[in-house]
Amino acid sequence: MLVKEALYRARKELQQIGIESFWLDGDLLLAHLLSIDRTALYINLNERLSSAIQSQFFELIKRRMAKEPVAYLVGEKEFMGLSFKVTTDVLIPRPETEILVETGISLASNMDRPIIIDVGTGSGAIAISLAKYLKNQPQLFAIDISYPALRQAKLNASRLKAKVFFLCSDMLSGLRSKADLIISNPPYVERDSLPPHEPQIALDGGIDGLSFYPRIFSLVHLLLKKQGFLAIEMGAGQSKAISEIAKRQGFSQINTREDLAGIERVLVAIND
Ligand code: GLN
Repeated sequence: MLVKEALYRARKELQQIGIESFWLDGDLLLAHLLSIDRTALYINLNERLSSAIQSQFFELIKRRMAKEPVAYLVGEKEFMGLSFKVTTDVLIPRPETEILVETGISLASNMDRPIIIDVGTGSGAIAISLAKYLKNQPQLFAIDISYPALRQAKLNASRLKAKVFFLCSDMLSGLRSKADLIISNPPYVERDSLPPHEPQIALDGGIDGLSFYPRIFSLVHLLLKKQGFLAIEMGAGQSKAISEIAKRQGFSQINTREDLAGIERVLVAIND
């Protein structure tokens, strides 16, 4: 079978079961198996596939048809222009979380050697991106309760040559130094709408999706310097409720930022 014939068949199968990204997914999976990029794939459309690659490709297509995310099938995901290795131990970094990282960069870029804590780091995407893009010698601490997630985060930090200290801990317990910025993408999905495949521990925000916020806000008071910032991601429609939680915990200066879809995605609170 030629490359173009395999792609044509894969796209048709994916499209028939309603996968909107059928074109891209087919390309990414075959390019991954051939260890080339998409441009090279298009240059080689008339090449013949070995029978081994062909059967591996349609095996992956079958798994994709069972809705396994492409990032898990190829083992990586691009985030902030960096490539992160992902397994089912970690949440796949989302484009909307880039807004959180950009907010963190703009809050911390004028500080002198800021101390930054990433709570619930998962793949390490947030902490590692901040370590790579901040040029003011940030000291980054990344925490997760999951050992397998931390293993993955450490692997990403070493591949991307980012200096981050990792700590296995339940939220902020065990930390002593006070931070200039605490940043987090906590689990915020309502329990009855959890997506399959990804680790529940990274997504499950309890019945209403909000269960982590009161705890984070109360711990942050103890670990944030005066005038330090908390930047935290939220789910669609949660902004009002989370702002209320922040106010109840004594934060008076609160701002939100929208993502590219116009959803209030990031809340910033100052420890005043
Ligand atoms: N944005 C993710 C989703 O909607 C959720 C991430 C999270 O719970 N922090 O699937």
